[in-house]
Amino acid sequence: MPPGLTLEECLRELHVVGPDNRVWRGWSAVARLARLFPWTWLVGAIGAVPPFSWIAHFLYRWVARNRYSLSRCRGGACRSSRPETTRAKASFISFWSCRLFGFLMRFPLMIFAWMRRMTHQVRDYWRVRGRRFDLLDDRLSMCFLSGWRCDLVPLLFGEQFVMHVYDGVAIDPGSLVMRRSLKRHLAAMQLPIHAVTATHHHEEHVGNLRWLAQHLEVPLYLTRDTFDIVSKPIRLPFARRLIIGATEPVPKDVIIIDDEVRTRDGVLQVIPTSGHCDDHVSFYDPERRVLLAGDAFMGSYFVTPNPDVNANQWVETLRRLIDMPIDILVEGHGHIHTLRDDIDVDNALVIRQAPRDVLAAKLEFFEWIRDQLAAGRDEGLSPRMIEATCFPWGQRWNWEQYLGDTLIRAMSLGHFSRREVVRSFTRSADASEMLPTLYSMTIHGE
Ligand SMILES: [Zn+2]
Repeated sequence: MPPGLTLEECLRELHVVGPDNRVWRGWSAVARLARLFPWTWLVGAIGAVPPFSWIAHFLYRWVARNRYSLSRCRGGACRSSRPETTRAKASFISFWSCRLFGFLMRFPLMIFAWMRRMTHQVRDYWRVRGRRFDLLDDRLSMCFLSGWRCDLVPLLFGEQFVMHVYDGVAIDPGSLVMRRSLKRHLAAMQLPIHAVTATHHHEEHVGNLRWLAQHLEVPLYLTRDTFDIVSKPIRLPFARRLIIGATEPVPKDVIIIDDEVRTRDGVLQVIPTSGHCDDHVSFYDPERRVLLAGDAFMGSYFVTPNPDVNANQWVETLRRLIDMPIDILVEGHGHIHTLRDDIDVDNALVIRQAPRDVLAAKLEFFEWIRDQLAAGRDEGLSPRMIEATCFPWGQRWNWEQYLGDTLIRAMSLGHFSRREVVRSFTRSADASEMLPTLYSMTIHGE
């Protein structure tokens, strides 16, 4: 280090030292460096001349003074080597002004990404609307359910409503507003259904359970936890009831399942997959390595969940699923993840990714958010600032999905929102694992 320079000074602003030990500091150092390269020479030359140099000096000092809070909010994942300095220097105004600047910079990109996504969703909706796709030698049928109100969901957000029929077992037969399309599927179905069941208690999965079992005169199988919820009337928030549809309580003669459901010529194992909600289960065919995941997997970057998500439980569920041999992962809302080329129904449905990889990506994403929460807490940030660091503009998934997520939040009157992802880490069945509560909880639906 040249004489007269201290480490403290070097950490505060950029220093450039010439061969003759001449030192340039701050903006002068930036301009000096810029003049060394053809692409940036002009910036360096203009930036060295007043009044541009005065403005640049002022801006440089402001950024240098606030760089701890700026860098944290820009990258979200940035960590300072001196957390105590970060805490002392993180200023509310610089944090939010940087955040606003990042938002404005990416706003044109956000609009473009949203329009592109909408185009794909409208195309996919028309490809699958009301159709049935038979796979695995007719062992698996995907019956796409529709209704004039609930069709807003696939059109605006890309989540389809699907009843799966696996070797004679009907799973998740939709809500009341989808009943007409369910009847059309039943009329066209070639193979008989001998049992009805559901992965969890959400309305688009259980609304038609009672009707379907009685209509077909077949038994209804449910886990104890799901039965306890759906044997009573479920009060839904207004927006959910209006758009996705209501449910009917199931009768008492339900058969409670523990570990398997018999199919026509085999079994589906019942895999507890809580996290999306407490009573969630998935169904697994060990012979063909097919997982009917339900809502235990809804994309790796799904950030506007229902308010009953428990992210800590979901992390445990994902760890278990990653260890299972799965060749075909069937989501509850219309997509299939597989590398098997005999599964080739429609580009709108099949995503050519290994199930293990997409599950691992989701786990990594959850763990990343958990790290952000812990780091923000250590740095003494406010809950709003911590939430912002979980959605940094530097992450592509964030700005790509921002407008769609904002629309979901507005249409559901705040029920499905990004804040739920953050809140979901403060819930835990096991109190010893619980993170300290950062957010006040709102009780929905009552
Ligand atoms: Zn659900």
